[in-house]
Amino acid sequence: MELRGKHLIGGRIAAEASTTFQAAVAATGEPLDPPYYEATAAEVDSALRGAESSFDALRGSAHEVRADLLDRIADQIVALGDALLERAHLETGLPLARLTAERGRAVNQMRLFAELLREGSWVEARIDRGQPERQPLPKPDVRRMLIPLGPIVVFGASNFPLAIGVVGTDTVCALAAGCPVVVKGHPAHPGTGEMLGTAVHSALEATGLPLESFSLLHGAGHELGLALVRHPATRAVAFTGSLRGGRALYDAAAARPDPIPVYAEMGSTNPVFLLPGALEQRAEQIAEGYIGSVTMGVGQFCTNPGIVLGLEAPGLGRFLDAAGRLANATTPATMLHAGIQRTFDAGLERVARTKGVRTIGRSAEPAAGACQAASAVFATDPQTIEAEPHLKEELFGPASIVVQCRDVAEMVRYAESLEGQLTATLHGTEEDLRTYERLVRVLERKVGRLVFNGFPTGIEVCAAMHHGGPYPATTDPHFTSIGTAAIHRFVRPVCYQGFPDAALPPELRNRNARRIWRLVDNQFTKEDA
Ligand code: NAP
Repeated sequence: MELRGKHLIGGRIAAEASTTFQAAVAATGEPLDPPYYEATAAEVDSALRGAESSFDALRGSAHEVRADLLDRIADQIVALGDALLERAHLETGLPLARLTAERGRAVNQMRLFAELLREGSWVEARIDRGQPERQPLPKPDVRRMLIPLGPIVVFGASNFPLAIGVVGTDTVCALAAGCPVVVKGHPAHPGTGEMLGTAVHSALEATGLPLESFSLLHGAGHELGLALVRHPATRAVAFTGSLRGGRALYDAAAARPDPIPVYAEMGSTNPVFLLPGALEQRAEQIAEGYIGSVTMGVGQFCTNPGIVLGLEAPGLGRFLDAAGRLANATTPATMLHAGIQRTFDAGLERVARTKGVRTIGRSAEPAAGACQAASAVFATDPQTIEAEPHLKEELFGPASIVVQCRDVAEMVRYAESLEGQLTATLHGTEEDLRTYERLVRVLERKVGRLVFNGFPTGIEVCAAMHHGGPYPATTDPHFTSIGTAAIHRFVRPVCYQGFPDAALPPELRNRNARRIWRLVDNQFTKEDA
Protein backbone atom coordinates (compact mmCIF):
# COMPACT_ATOMS: atom_id res chain seq x y z
CA MET A 1 0.00 0.00 0.00
CA GLU A 2 1.06 3.58 -0.59
CA LEU A 3 2.02 5.37 2.61
CA ARG A 4 0.69 8.93 2.95
CA GLY A 5 2.44 10.21 6.08
CA LYS A 6 -0.90 11.38 7.50
CA HIS A 7 -3.05 10.68 10.53
CA LEU A 8 -6.11 8.46 10.57
CA ILE A 9 -8.73 10.36 12.53
CA GLY A 10 -11.98 8.48 12.70
CA GLY A 11 -12.73 7.78 9.08
CA ARG A 12 -10.64 10.68 7.79
CA ILE A 13 -7.09 10.97 6.50
CA ALA A 14 -5.83 14.19 8.06
CA ALA A 15 -2.75 16.38 8.11
CA GLU A 16 -2.98 20.07 8.90
CA ALA A 17 0.44 20.86 10.44
CA SER A 18 3.29 22.48 8.55
CA THR A 19 5.89 20.40 10.43
CA THR A 20 6.90 16.84 9.61
CA PHE A 21 9.36 14.25 10.86
CA GLN A 22 10.91 11.32 9.08
CA ALA A 23 11.68 7.77 10.15
CA ALA A 24 15.08 6.30 9.33
CA VAL A 25 16.32 2.93 8.17
CA ALA A 26 17.44 1.48 11.52
CA ALA A 27 20.52 -0.20 10.06
CA THR A 28 21.90 2.78 8.12
CA GLY A 29 20.23 5.92 9.45
CA GLU A 30 19.07 6.84 5.91
CA PRO A 31 15.81 8.85 5.94
CA LEU A 32 12.72 6.88 4.93
CA ASP A 33 9.86 8.35 2.91
CA PRO A 34 7.24 9.63 3.31
CA PRO A 35 7.66 12.46 5.83
CA TYR A 36 5.02 12.21 8.61
CA TYR A 37 2.96 15.18 9.69
CA GLU A 38 3.06 16.09 13.38
CA ALA A 39 -0.41 16.02 14.94
CA THR A 40 -1.75 19.41 16.00
CA ALA A 41 -3.77 20.28 19.12
CA ALA A 42 -6.90 20.50 16.94
CA GLU A 43 -6.26 16.98 15.59
CA VAL A 44 -5.83 15.62 19.13
CA ASP A 45 -9.13 17.22 20.05
CA SER A 46 -10.84 15.89 16.95
CA ALA A 47 -9.60 12.31 17.52
CA LEU A 48 -10.67 12.26 21.18
CA ARG A 49 -14.03 13.96 20.60
CA GLY A 50 -14.69 11.42 17.86
CA ALA A 51 -13.72 8.62 20.25
CA GLU A 52 -16.07 9.99 22.89
CA SER A 53 -18.92 10.31 20.39
CA SER A 54 -18.49 6.68 19.28
CA PHE A 55 -18.33 5.24 22.81
CA ASP A 56 -22.02 4.49 23.30
CA ALA A 57 -22.31 2.68 19.98
CA LEU A 58 -19.15 0.66 20.58
CA ARG A 59 -19.97 -0.33 24.15
CA GLY A 60 -23.53 -1.14 23.15
CA SER A 61 -22.40 -3.41 20.30
CA ALA A 62 -22.88 -7.15 20.71
CA HIS A 63 -19.82 -9.06 21.94
CA GLU A 64 -20.09 -11.14 18.79
CA VAL A 65 -19.71 -8.00 16.63
CA ARG A 66 -16.57 -6.90 18.50
CA ALA A 67 -15.19 -10.44 18.26
CA ASP A 68 -15.82 -10.24 14.52
CA LEU A 69 -13.97 -6.90 14.44
CA LEU A 70 -10.90 -8.45 16.07
CA ASP A 71 -10.93 -11.41 13.68
CA ARG A 72 -11.22 -9.04 10.73
CA ILE A 73 -8.32 -6.90 11.96
CA ALA A 74 -6.25 -10.09 12.21
CA ASP A 75 -7.24 -11.04 8.64
CA GLN A 76 -6.40 -7.55 7.34
CA ILE A 77 -2.97 -7.69 8.98
CA VAL A 78 -2.20 -11.05 7.45
CA ALA A 79 -3.41 -9.67 4.10
CA LEU A 80 -0.83 -6.85 4.32
CA GLY A 81 1.64 -9.66 3.65
CA ASP A 82 5.36 -9.17 3.22
CA ALA A 83 5.02 -5.43 2.65
CA LEU A 84 4.22 -4.95 6.36
CA LEU A 85 7.15 -7.10 7.47
CA GLU A 86 9.54 -5.39 5.07
CA ARG A 87 8.57 -1.90 6.20
CA ALA A 88 8.84 -2.96 9.88
CA HIS A 89 12.24 -4.50 9.15
CA LEU A 90 13.51 -1.25 7.61
CA GLU A 91 12.16 0.92 10.43
CA THR A 92 13.14 -1.26 13.41
CA GLY A 93 16.08 -3.34 12.21
CA LEU A 94 14.35 -6.44 13.59
CA PRO A 95 15.04 -9.49 11.43
CA LEU A 96 12.25 -10.68 9.14
CA ALA A 97 12.07 -14.06 10.91
CA ARG A 98 11.48 -12.34 14.26
CA LEU A 99 8.86 -10.02 12.71
CA THR A 100 7.08 -12.99 11.13
CA ALA A 101 6.88 -14.66 14.54
CA GLU A 102 5.73 -11.41 16.13
CA ARG A 103 2.97 -11.02 13.54
CA GLY A 104 1.85 -14.54 14.47
CA ARG A 105 1.72 -13.53 18.12
CA ALA A 106 -0.19 -10.31 17.28
CA VAL A 107 -2.77 -12.14 15.19
CA ASN A 108 -3.19 -14.98 17.72
CA GLN A 109 -3.68 -12.37 20.41
CA MET A 110 -6.58 -10.85 18.45
CA ARG A 111 -8.18 -14.25 17.95
CA LEU A 112 -7.72 -15.07 21.65
CA PHE A 113 -9.59 -11.90 22.64
CA ALA A 114 -12.27 -12.68 20.04
CA GLU A 115 -12.76 -16.04 21.80
CA LEU A 116 -12.88 -14.33 25.18
CA LEU A 117 -15.70 -12.10 23.91
CA ARG A 118 -17.64 -14.99 22.39
CA GLU A 119 -17.40 -16.98 25.62
CA GLY A 120 -18.52 -13.90 27.55
CA SER A 121 -17.73 -14.70 31.21
CA TRP A 122 -15.00 -12.01 31.31
CA VAL A 123 -17.61 -9.45 32.45
CA GLU A 124 -17.47 -11.15 35.90
CA ALA A 125 -21.19 -11.06 36.59
CA ARG A 126 -22.03 -11.39 40.30
CA ILE A 127 -25.56 -11.73 41.56
CA ASP A 128 -26.74 -11.59 45.16
CA ARG A 129 -30.45 -12.18 45.02
CA GLY A 130 -32.58 -10.07 47.31
CA GLN A 131 -34.22 -11.56 50.41
CA PRO A 132 -37.11 -9.23 51.29
CA GLU A 133 -38.06 -11.50 54.19
CA ARG A 134 -34.60 -11.42 55.86
CA GLN A 135 -34.60 -10.34 59.54
CA PRO A 136 -33.86 -7.95 61.12
CA LEU A 137 -33.42 -6.14 57.77
CA PRO A 138 -34.37 -7.20 54.23
CA LYS A 139 -31.40 -8.01 51.94
CA PRO A 140 -31.46 -5.88 48.78
CA ASP A 141 -31.01 -7.43 45.34
CA VAL A 142 -27.42 -6.51 44.33
CA ARG A 143 -25.77 -7.31 40.99
CA ARG A 144 -22.49 -6.19 39.46
CA MET A 145 -20.43 -6.60 36.31
CA LEU A 146 -17.60 -4.94 34.44
CA ILE A 147 -18.27 -2.15 31.97
CA PRO A 148 -15.86 -0.29 29.63
CA LEU A 149 -14.14 2.90 30.82
CA GLY A 150 -14.32 5.12 27.72
CA PRO A 151 -11.69 6.46 25.27
CA ILE A 152 -8.22 4.95 25.85
CA VAL A 153 -4.94 6.53 24.73
CA VAL A 154 -2.36 3.94 23.66
CA PHE A 155 1.37 4.57 23.18
CA GLY A 156 2.84 2.11 20.69
CA ALA A 157 6.08 0.53 21.95
CA SER A 158 9.29 0.69 19.94
CA ASN A 159 10.39 -2.88 20.61
CA PHE A 160 7.27 -4.80 19.52
CA PRO A 161 5.99 -2.89 16.47
CA LEU A 162 3.32 -5.52 15.79
CA ALA A 163 2.42 -7.20 19.10
CA ILE A 164 2.57 -4.06 21.35
CA GLY A 165 2.23 -1.43 18.63
CA VAL A 166 -0.67 0.36 16.97
CA VAL A 167 -2.83 -2.78 17.07
CA GLY A 168 -0.99 -4.58 19.85
CA THR A 169 -2.22 -5.94 23.12
CA ASP A 170 -3.38 -2.55 24.47
CA THR A 171 -5.52 -1.58 21.47
CA VAL A 172 -6.96 -5.10 21.20
CA CYS A 173 -7.93 -5.23 24.89
CA ALA A 174 -9.51 -1.79 24.74
CA LEU A 175 -11.58 -2.49 21.61
CA ALA A 176 -12.57 -5.89 23.03
CA ALA A 177 -13.81 -4.20 26.20
CA GLY A 178 -15.84 -1.72 24.11
CA CYS A 179 -13.50 1.29 24.52
CA PRO A 180 -12.59 3.57 21.60
CA VAL A 181 -8.83 3.99 21.08
CA VAL A 182 -6.56 6.85 20.08
CA VAL A 183 -3.01 5.66 19.40
CA LYS A 184 0.15 7.71 19.43
CA GLY A 185 2.30 5.71 17.03
CA HIS A 186 5.95 5.26 17.95
CA PRO A 187 7.91 7.87 15.96
CA ALA A 188 10.63 5.35 15.05
CA HIS A 189 8.25 3.24 12.91
CA PRO A 190 5.41 5.44 11.59
CA GLY A 191 5.09 3.56 8.28
CA THR A 192 4.47 0.25 10.06
CA GLY A 193 1.96 2.09 12.26
CA GLU A 194 0.12 3.58 9.29
CA MET A 195 -0.24 0.16 7.65
CA LEU A 196 -1.63 -1.34 10.86
CA GLY A 197 -3.97 1.62 11.41
CA THR A 198 -5.40 1.20 7.93
CA ALA A 199 -6.12 -2.45 8.74
CA VAL A 200 -8.21 -1.36 11.75
CA HIS A 201 -10.17 1.14 9.66
CA SER A 202 -11.00 -1.46 7.00
CA ALA A 203 -12.15 -3.89 9.70
CA LEU A 204 -14.33 -1.22 11.37
CA GLU A 205 -15.91 -0.42 8.03
CA ALA A 206 -16.64 -4.08 7.36
CA THR A 207 -18.30 -4.62 10.75
CA GLY A 208 -20.33 -1.41 10.60
CA LEU A 209 -18.88 -0.13 13.88
CA PRO A 210 -18.23 3.63 14.12
CA LEU A 211 -14.99 4.66 12.40
CA GLU A 212 -14.42 7.20 15.17
CA SER A 213 -13.69 4.25 17.52
CA PHE A 214 -10.08 4.28 16.32
CA SER A 215 -7.59 7.02 15.48
CA LEU A 216 -3.86 7.00 14.90
CA LEU A 217 -1.82 10.16 15.38
CA HIS A 218 1.84 10.67 14.53
CA GLY A 219 4.33 12.94 16.23
CA ALA A 220 7.94 12.99 17.34
CA GLY A 221 7.89 15.02 20.51
CA HIS A 222 6.62 14.84 24.05
CA GLU A 223 3.91 17.48 23.54
CA LEU A 224 1.61 15.19 21.54
CA GLY A 225 1.68 12.45 24.19
CA LEU A 226 1.05 14.93 26.99
CA ALA A 227 -1.84 16.55 25.10
CA LEU A 228 -3.48 13.12 24.63
CA VAL A 229 -3.13 12.31 28.34
CA ARG A 230 -4.50 15.71 29.39
CA HIS A 231 -7.52 15.69 27.07
CA PRO A 232 -10.76 15.64 29.09
CA ALA A 233 -12.24 12.75 27.05
CA THR A 234 -9.34 10.37 27.82
CA ARG A 235 -10.34 7.81 30.47
CA ALA A 236 -7.10 5.73 30.73
CA VAL A 237 -3.65 5.40 29.18
CA ALA A 238 -1.56 2.36 28.20
CA PHE A 239 2.18 2.76 27.69
CA THR A 240 5.24 0.54 27.18
CA GLY A 241 8.63 2.23 27.21
CA SER A 242 11.10 4.03 29.45
CA LEU A 243 10.71 4.80 33.14
CA ARG A 244 11.19 8.47 32.35
CA GLY A 245 8.44 8.49 29.70
CA GLY A 246 6.01 6.37 31.71
CA ARG A 247 6.52 8.46 34.82
CA ALA A 248 6.05 11.76 32.92
CA LEU A 249 2.71 10.53 31.54
CA TYR A 250 1.66 9.16 34.95
CA ASP A 251 2.43 12.53 36.60
CA ALA A 252 0.54 14.39 33.86
CA ALA A 253 -2.49 12.12 34.37
CA ALA A 254 -2.36 12.59 38.15
CA ALA A 255 -2.19 16.39 37.74
CA ARG A 256 -5.44 16.50 35.73
CA PRO A 257 -8.46 17.99 37.52
CA ASP A 258 -9.88 14.46 37.21
CA PRO A 259 -6.90 12.06 37.51
CA ILE A 260 -7.05 8.99 35.29
CA PRO A 261 -5.15 5.67 35.44
CA VAL A 262 -1.93 5.25 33.45
CA TYR A 263 -0.93 1.63 32.94
CA ALA A 264 2.76 2.03 32.17
CA GLU A 265 5.03 -0.96 31.72
CA MET A 266 8.54 0.37 32.13
CA GLY A 267 10.84 -2.62 32.32
CA SER A 268 13.15 -4.11 34.93
CA THR A 269 16.40 -6.04 35.45
CA ASN A 270 14.65 -9.41 35.90
CA PRO A 271 17.13 -11.02 38.34
CA VAL A 272 18.03 -14.68 37.85
CA PHE A 273 19.12 -16.71 40.92
CA LEU A 274 21.40 -19.70 40.36
CA LEU A 275 21.10 -22.20 43.22
CA PRO A 276 23.78 -24.83 43.95
CA GLY A 277 21.90 -27.97 42.88
CA ALA A 278 21.23 -26.55 39.40
CA LEU A 279 24.78 -25.21 39.02
CA GLU A 280 26.23 -28.57 39.91
CA GLN A 281 23.95 -30.47 37.51
CA ARG A 282 23.85 -28.20 34.45
CA ALA A 283 26.00 -25.06 34.66
CA GLU A 284 26.86 -25.07 30.94
CA GLN A 285 23.28 -25.68 29.85
CA ILE A 286 22.05 -22.78 31.99
CA ALA A 287 24.77 -20.55 30.52
CA GLU A 288 23.55 -21.39 27.02
CA GLY A 289 19.93 -20.53 27.84
CA TYR A 290 21.09 -17.36 29.62
CA ILE A 291 23.16 -15.98 26.72
CA GLY A 292 20.30 -16.85 24.35
CA SER A 293 17.92 -14.89 26.58
CA VAL A 294 20.30 -11.90 27.00
CA THR A 295 20.92 -11.53 23.26
CA MET A 296 17.43 -12.43 21.98
CA GLY A 297 15.96 -9.43 20.10
CA VAL A 298 19.30 -7.63 20.68
CA GLY A 299 18.39 -7.57 24.37
CA GLN A 300 15.57 -5.09 23.67
CA PHE A 301 13.02 -6.80 25.88
CA CYS A 302 11.67 -5.54 29.18
CA THR A 303 12.11 -9.15 30.40
CA ASN A 304 15.80 -9.32 29.54
CA PRO A 305 17.75 -11.02 32.39
CA GLY A 306 19.99 -8.08 33.32
CA ILE A 307 21.30 -9.38 36.65
CA VAL A 308 22.27 -12.92 37.65
CA LEU A 309 23.04 -13.92 41.24
CA GLY A 310 25.06 -17.10 41.58
CA LEU A 311 26.18 -18.86 44.77
CA GLU A 312 29.96 -19.34 44.90
CA ALA A 313 30.41 -23.04 44.15
CA PRO A 314 32.42 -25.04 41.58
CA GLY A 315 29.43 -24.96 39.24
CA LEU A 316 29.47 -21.15 39.19
CA GLY A 317 32.98 -21.15 37.70
CA ARG A 318 31.78 -23.47 34.94
CA PHE A 319 28.77 -21.22 34.34
CA LEU A 320 30.97 -18.10 34.06
CA ASP A 321 33.43 -19.81 31.70
CA ALA A 322 30.66 -21.02 29.41
CA ALA A 323 28.77 -17.69 29.50
CA GLY A 324 32.00 -15.80 28.68
CA ARG A 325 32.80 -18.12 25.79
CA LEU A 326 29.29 -17.84 24.35
CA ALA A 327 29.19 -14.04 24.72
CA ASN A 328 32.56 -13.77 22.92
CA ALA A 329 31.06 -15.72 20.01
CA THR A 330 28.05 -13.41 19.54
CA THR A 331 28.03 -10.76 16.83
CA PRO A 332 26.90 -7.12 17.03
CA ALA A 333 23.33 -6.56 15.82
CA THR A 334 21.14 -3.64 14.77
CA MET A 335 19.17 -1.84 17.48
CA LEU A 336 15.69 -0.32 17.16
CA HIS A 337 16.74 3.31 16.83
CA ALA A 338 19.73 5.58 17.29
CA GLY A 339 18.49 6.92 20.66
CA ILE A 340 18.27 3.42 22.16
CA GLN A 341 21.69 2.56 20.73
CA ARG A 342 23.36 5.69 22.17
CA THR A 343 21.84 5.08 25.63
CA PHE A 344 22.91 1.44 25.56
CA ASP A 345 26.45 2.26 24.42
CA ALA A 346 26.92 4.85 27.15
CA GLY A 347 25.52 2.47 29.78
CA LEU A 348 27.69 -0.41 28.60
CA GLU A 349 30.87 1.65 28.80
CA ARG A 350 29.92 2.96 32.23
CA VAL A 351 29.46 -0.61 33.53
CA ALA A 352 32.69 -1.79 31.89
CA ARG A 353 34.64 1.08 33.53
CA THR A 354 33.20 0.58 37.02
CA LYS A 355 35.81 -0.46 39.61
CA GLY A 356 35.07 -3.97 40.86
CA VAL A 357 33.38 -5.06 37.60
CA ARG A 358 35.20 -7.38 35.17
CA THR A 359 34.19 -8.28 31.65
CA ILE A 360 33.84 -12.03 31.25
CA GLY A 361 32.70 -12.07 27.62
CA ARG A 362 32.08 -9.52 24.89
CA SER A 363 31.28 -9.75 21.19
CA ALA A 364 33.33 -8.01 18.51
CA GLU A 365 32.73 -4.25 18.39
CA PRO A 366 30.20 -2.83 15.89
CA ALA A 367 31.49 -0.81 12.94
CA ALA A 368 31.98 2.86 13.88
CA GLY A 369 28.77 4.84 13.48
CA ALA A 370 26.51 1.78 12.98
CA CYS A 371 23.26 1.61 14.97
CA GLN A 372 24.43 -1.67 16.49
CA ALA A 373 25.05 -3.12 19.92
CA ALA A 374 27.95 -5.22 21.13
CA SER A 375 26.81 -7.88 23.62
CA ALA A 376 28.62 -8.29 26.91
CA VAL A 377 28.52 -10.19 30.19
CA PHE A 378 30.16 -8.78 33.31
CA ALA A 379 30.89 -10.18 36.78
CA THR A 380 31.01 -8.42 40.12
CA ASP A 381 30.35 -8.95 43.86
CA PRO A 382 27.47 -7.88 46.13
CA GLN A 383 29.50 -5.08 47.75
CA THR A 384 30.27 -3.42 44.40
CA ILE A 385 26.67 -3.59 43.18
CA GLU A 386 25.51 -2.04 46.48
CA ALA A 387 28.11 0.74 46.25
CA GLU A 388 27.36 1.51 42.57
CA PRO A 389 23.58 1.91 42.21
CA HIS A 390 23.81 2.41 38.43
CA LEU A 391 24.69 -1.31 38.15
CA LYS A 392 21.20 -2.12 39.41
CA GLU A 393 19.51 -0.08 36.68
CA GLU A 394 18.08 -1.60 33.52
CA LEU A 395 20.53 -1.51 30.60
CA PHE A 396 18.19 -1.89 27.61
CA GLY A 397 20.20 -4.08 25.24
CA PRO A 398 22.23 -7.32 25.17
CA ALA A 399 24.20 -6.96 28.41
CA SER A 400 24.02 -8.60 31.82
CA ILE A 401 25.93 -8.67 35.11
CA VAL A 402 26.65 -11.80 37.18
CA VAL A 403 26.92 -11.15 40.93
CA GLN A 404 28.99 -13.76 42.76
CA CYS A 405 27.46 -14.28 46.21
CA ARG A 406 29.39 -16.03 49.00
CA ASP A 407 26.27 -17.35 50.69
CA VAL A 408 22.50 -17.36 50.44
CA ALA A 409 22.26 -14.52 52.97
CA GLU A 410 23.87 -12.23 50.36
CA MET A 411 21.32 -13.37 47.78
CA VAL A 412 18.43 -12.76 50.14
CA ARG A 413 19.82 -9.30 51.06
CA TYR A 414 19.97 -8.44 47.34
CA ALA A 415 16.42 -9.68 46.83
CA GLU A 416 15.24 -7.60 49.80
CA SER A 417 16.87 -4.49 48.35
CA LEU A 418 15.18 -4.92 44.95
CA GLU A 419 12.74 -2.39 43.53
CA GLY A 420 9.64 -3.83 41.84
CA GLN A 421 10.42 -6.17 38.95
CA LEU A 422 8.45 -7.77 36.14
CA THR A 423 10.07 -11.14 36.77
CA ALA A 424 12.56 -13.12 38.86
CA THR A 425 13.92 -16.51 37.85
CA LEU A 426 15.27 -19.37 39.96
CA HIS A 427 17.43 -22.15 38.60
CA GLY A 428 17.54 -25.02 41.07
CA THR A 429 16.35 -28.44 42.03
CA GLU A 430 13.15 -29.05 43.95
CA GLU A 431 15.33 -29.56 47.00
CA ASP A 432 16.97 -26.15 46.38
CA LEU A 433 13.50 -24.64 46.41
CA ARG A 434 12.83 -26.13 49.84
CA THR A 435 16.26 -25.15 51.20
CA TYR A 436 16.04 -21.57 49.87
CA GLU A 437 12.35 -21.05 50.54
CA ARG A 438 13.09 -17.72 52.24
CA LEU A 439 14.40 -16.36 48.92
CA VAL A 440 11.17 -17.35 47.16
CA ARG A 441 9.09 -15.67 49.88
CA VAL A 442 11.08 -12.41 49.49
CA LEU A 443 10.82 -12.49 45.68
CA GLU A 444 7.04 -12.97 45.76
CA ARG A 445 6.82 -9.49 47.27
CA LYS A 446 9.00 -7.92 44.57
CA VAL A 447 7.89 -9.33 41.23
CA GLY A 448 4.93 -10.02 38.96
CA ARG A 449 6.11 -13.41 37.65
CA LEU A 450 8.40 -16.07 39.15
CA VAL A 451 10.04 -18.43 36.64
CA PHE A 452 11.54 -21.78 37.68
CA ASN A 453 14.25 -23.38 35.52
CA GLY A 454 13.43 -21.26 32.49
CA PHE A 455 14.12 -17.73 31.25
CA PRO A 456 11.90 -14.66 31.48
CA THR A 457 12.00 -13.69 27.78
CA GLY A 458 9.34 -15.12 25.46
CA ILE A 459 6.09 -14.29 27.26
CA GLU A 460 3.20 -16.70 26.71
CA VAL A 461 -0.01 -14.86 25.79
CA CYS A 462 -2.61 -16.73 27.84
CA ALA A 463 -5.24 -16.37 30.55
CA ALA A 464 -2.92 -17.03 33.52
CA MET A 465 -0.09 -14.70 32.39
CA HIS A 466 0.81 -11.77 34.61
CA HIS A 467 3.12 -9.31 32.89
CA GLY A 468 3.34 -6.57 35.47
CA GLY A 469 4.84 -5.94 38.87
CA PRO A 470 5.32 -3.36 41.62
CA TYR A 471 6.65 0.12 40.76
CA PRO A 472 8.92 0.93 38.95
CA ALA A 473 8.29 -2.15 36.78
CA THR A 474 4.81 -0.71 36.21
CA THR A 475 2.65 2.07 37.60
CA ASP A 476 0.00 -0.34 38.87
CA PRO A 477 0.90 -3.80 40.23
CA HIS A 478 -2.67 -5.08 40.03
CA PHE A 479 -2.74 -5.36 36.27
CA THR A 480 -1.05 -7.29 33.49
CA SER A 481 -0.42 -5.86 30.03
CA ILE A 482 -0.15 -9.28 28.34
CA GLY A 483 -2.73 -12.09 28.31
CA THR A 484 -6.51 -11.96 28.51
CA ALA A 485 -6.55 -10.53 32.07
CA ALA A 486 -5.12 -7.32 30.51
CA ILE A 487 -8.69 -6.36 29.58
CA HIS A 488 -9.27 -5.47 33.24
CA ARG A 489 -7.25 -2.27 32.77
CA PHE A 490 -10.00 -0.78 30.62
CA VAL A 491 -13.13 -1.74 32.54
CA ARG A 492 -14.60 -0.98 35.93
CA PRO A 493 -17.32 -2.60 38.01
CA VAL A 494 -20.77 -1.11 38.18
CA CYS A 495 -23.34 -2.32 40.66
CA TYR A 496 -27.13 -2.30 40.23
CA GLN A 497 -29.21 -2.44 43.39
CA GLY A 498 -32.92 -3.20 43.36
CA PHE A 499 -33.26 -2.96 39.55
CA PRO A 500 -36.16 -4.70 37.80
CA ASP A 501 -34.96 -7.71 35.78
CA ALA A 502 -35.85 -6.25 32.37
CA ALA A 503 -33.87 -3.05 33.08
CA LEU A 504 -30.64 -4.93 33.85
CA PRO A 505 -27.89 -5.62 31.28
CA PRO A 506 -28.48 -9.09 29.75
CA GLU A 507 -25.53 -10.60 31.69
CA LEU A 508 -27.20 -9.77 35.02
CA ARG A 509 -30.78 -10.84 34.30
CA ASN A 510 -32.24 -13.89 36.00
CA ARG A 511 -32.20 -15.80 32.75
CA ASN A 512 -28.59 -16.51 31.80
CA ALA A 513 -29.21 -16.27 28.05
CA ARG A 514 -25.51 -16.35 27.09
CA ARG A 515 -24.75 -19.24 29.47
CA ILE A 516 -21.75 -17.43 30.93
CA TRP A 517 -20.16 -18.25 34.27
CA ARG A 518 -21.70 -16.09 37.01
CA LEU A 519 -21.31 -15.95 40.79
CA VAL A 520 -24.87 -16.36 42.00
CA ASP A 521 -25.34 -16.21 45.78
CA ASN A 522 -21.62 -17.07 46.17
CA GLN A 523 -21.69 -20.12 43.84
CA PHE A 524 -20.16 -20.17 40.34
CA THR A 525 -22.81 -21.40 37.91
CA LYS A 526 -24.03 -21.18 34.34
CA GLU A 527 -27.64 -21.79 35.45
CA ASP A 528 -30.36 -19.12 35.57
CA ALA A 529 -30.57 -17.09 38.80
P1 NAP B 1 10.35 6.04 25.27
O1 NAP B 1 11.44 7.03 25.14
O2 NAP B 1 9.83 5.81 26.63
O3 NAP B 1 9.17 6.50 24.30
C1 NAP B 1 7.95 5.77 24.19
C2 NAP B 1 6.84 6.72 23.78
O4 NAP B 1 6.57 7.62 24.85
C3 NAP B 1 7.17 7.57 22.58
O5 NAP B 1 5.97 7.74 21.83
C4 NAP B 1 7.59 8.88 23.18
O6 NAP B 1 7.28 9.95 22.33
C5 NAP B 1 6.74 8.98 24.43
N1 NAP B 1 7.42 9.71 25.50
C6 NAP B 1 8.63 9.42 26.02
N2 NAP B 1 8.93 10.28 27.00
C7 NAP B 1 7.88 11.13 27.11
C8 NAP B 1 7.60 12.25 27.94
N3 NAP B 1 8.46 12.66 28.88
N4 NAP B 1 6.44 12.89 27.76
C9 NAP B 1 5.57 12.49 26.80
N5 NAP B 1 5.78 11.45 25.98
C10 NAP B 1 6.92 10.77 26.13
O7 NAP B 1 10.77 4.61 24.70
P2 NAP B 1 11.63 4.16 23.43
O8 NAP B 1 11.74 5.22 22.41
O9 NAP B 1 11.02 2.91 23.02
O10 NAP B 1 13.08 3.80 24.00
C11 NAP B 1 13.79 4.54 24.94
C12 NAP B 1 14.09 3.70 26.17
O11 NAP B 1 12.87 3.14 26.70
C13 NAP B 1 14.95 2.47 25.94
O12 NAP B 1 16.31 2.78 25.92
C14 NAP B 1 14.54 1.57 27.08
O13 NAP B 1 15.27 1.88 28.24
C15 NAP B 1 13.09 1.89 27.33
N6 NAP B 1 12.16 0.89 26.75
C16 NAP B 1 11.50 0.06 27.58
C17 NAP B 1 10.62 -0.87 27.06
C18 NAP B 1 9.84 -1.79 27.92
O14 NAP B 1 9.44 -2.83 27.44
N7 NAP B 1 9.54 -1.45 29.15
C19 NAP B 1 10.39 -0.94 25.69
C20 NAP B 1 11.06 -0.06 24.87
C21 NAP B 1 11.93 0.85 25.42
P3 NAP B 1 8.35 10.94 21.69
O15 NAP B 1 9.62 10.15 21.49
O16 NAP B 1 7.69 11.35 20.43
O17 NAP B 1 8.50 12.03 22.66
